[in-house]
Amino acid sequence: MDLKPTIGIETHIELNTNTKMFCRCKVVDTDEPNISLCPTCIGLPGALPVPNGKAIEYITLLSLATGCTITRKGMFHRKNYFYPDLPKNYQISQFDLPVGESGKLEIILDGKKDSVEIERVHMEEDTGKSTHSGTGRIDSATSTALDFNRSGVPLVEIVTKPVIESAKEAVAYIEELRQLSIDLNISEGKLEKGNLRFDANISVAPDDSNELGTKVEIKNMNSLRSLERAIDYEISRQTKAYLDGEEIIQETRHWDEAKELTSSMRSKEGSADYRYFSDPDLPNMILSEIFIEDIKNKLPKLPSEIRNDLMETGLDLDQANILGKSDNWIRDLYFDVFDSTKEHSTTYNWITGELQGQMRKLDINFPPEWFSADLLSEILGLIKDNKISFTSGKTILSEVLQKNISIDEVATNNDLYQENNEEKIVELVKNVINDSEDVVQRIKEGEDKLVGFLVGQVIKNSGGSVNPGIAKELLSKELDL
Ligand SMILES: [Zn+2]
Repeated sequence: MDLKPTIGIETHIELNTNTKMFCRCKVVDTDEPNISLCPTCIGLPGALPVPNGKAIEYITLLSLATGCTITRKGMFHRKNYFYPDLPKNYQISQFDLPVGESGKLEIILDGKKDSVEIERVHMEEDTGKSTHSGTGRIDSATSTALDFNRSGVPLVEIVTKPVIESAKEAVAYIEELRQLSIDLNISEGKLEKGNLRFDANISVAPDDSNELGTKVEIKNMNSLRSLERAIDYEISRQTKAYLDGEEIIQETRHWDEAKELTSSMRSKEGSADYRYFSDPDLPNMILSEIFIEDIKNKLPKLPSEIRNDLMETGLDLDQANILGKSDNWIRDLYFDVFDSTKEHSTTYNWITGELQGQMRKLDINFPPEWFSADLLSEILGLIKDNKISFTSGKTILSEVLQKNISIDEVATNNDLYQENNEEKIVELVKNVINDSEDVVQRIKEGEDKLVGFLVGQVIKNSGGSVNPGIAKELLSKELDL
C-alpha cells in the first residue's frame, strides 16, 4: 500500500521591533540574563499590557504580503498553561480572530514555482528562555536557569494548511518565508539566533484516502537541516508503524539532533486544554481601512517579484532564486553590474562564483567600501574587450578587494594588459617552441591536438596574462601551421 505524508508547519517569527509586545522594555540581543524586564513582562500582579503599534504594523505587512485577508476586528486571548519560562501562567495570543487568514506563499521547488497555502497569521508574545542542567531536557535536569529578556518579545505565528508533501517542500517554504521576513524588514531572519522557529505537524495516510492520518507534532526546530531530517525520520517512523499495524498516537515529539531521531515529549494538547479566553486587559483591536491602505503602500518588492525581475534580465528560475535569497547588497550589485554589462550569465557567475569565493577566502562578509558595481563592470568590460585575460580579471578582483587601488594600477603594475604584449607573446611563443622540440615534431607529424598543450605552456609562462586566442594565433604563425 502506498502512503502519502501530509505536513503542516507553524512558524514563529521574532519581530525586530525596538521594544517588547506589551511593555516598553527594550528587545535585547545579549547573553547577559534578565537585564530587560518590567512588571508586565515578568507577570507581576496588577501590571497592564499595552500593545506595540509597530508589531501590529509588521504583522499586517506580513499578512498582506502572503495574500491573507485582514481581520478588521481582532482580539487578544489568553492561552493558559504552566511552565517556568512563562511567569504569567498564560501567553497572550490570538484565537479565533487572527490578523490574517487564507493566504498563499509562492515557493520554488525542484526548479519550478509552487505555492503553499497559509491558514492564518496571528500575533503573540515570546516566553522566557530556560536552560536545563545536565542533558538539557527538563525531565532529567536538577536545576533550571531562567532568563526573561525574551519574555514578551513580539512573535508572529504563521500556520500553513496541511498541504506540504515532503521535507524538501517544507524547507523550500521556510527559505521563502525567511527571505520574505527579511525583505519586509520585520525580522533579522537569522535561524541560528532563533529568529525563526518552527513546529511541524506530520501524518501519513493511504494514498487514496481523503482523510488525514493521526498527526504528530515535532516542536521547536530552528535549522533547515533539523527540519528536513526530523520530517524524513518521522515520515518513515509513521509509515513503518502504519504498515506494522501499530497505532500512531497523537503526541508532541522532540527531534534529537545528536541521535537523529524523534522521541515522545507528551501527549498532544487540544486547544481546549489551554482554556483560551479573551484577555480582559486588552480591548478589541480594530484595524481601520486607512491603516490597512497605509500598510499596503509600504509593501516593498516581495521575493517573488524580485525573482521575476531577475528572470527578466535573462537568468533562469534557479539562478533567480539563489540570487533572490542572497543578501541585499549582492542582489543590488547584480542589477547594477547587469545594467552596464547587459550580460546576465557572466555577471551572475562572477558575483556568485568568483566574488563570493574570494570574499570567503579573505573571510569578509561585505566588500570594502571602495568596492563598487562600476569596478566589477570595468573588470568584466576589459575581459570582454580582450584587454585582459579571464585569469587577470581574477587577479585584479583579488587586489581591489584587498586594497583601495585602481584597476589600471593593478593591471599596469602586474603587466596584465594583453594588447601591449604582442612582442612579448612572440618571445614567449618562441621560448616554448625551443623548449618543446619533441612536441613540435609530433605536431608537424600531424598531432594537431598538441597545439593546445603549447598554448597552455605559453599562458602558464606568462603568468596567465596572455589571451589564449592570441597565443594560438601567434603559435600557429611561428610553426607555419
Ligand atoms: Zn517589560
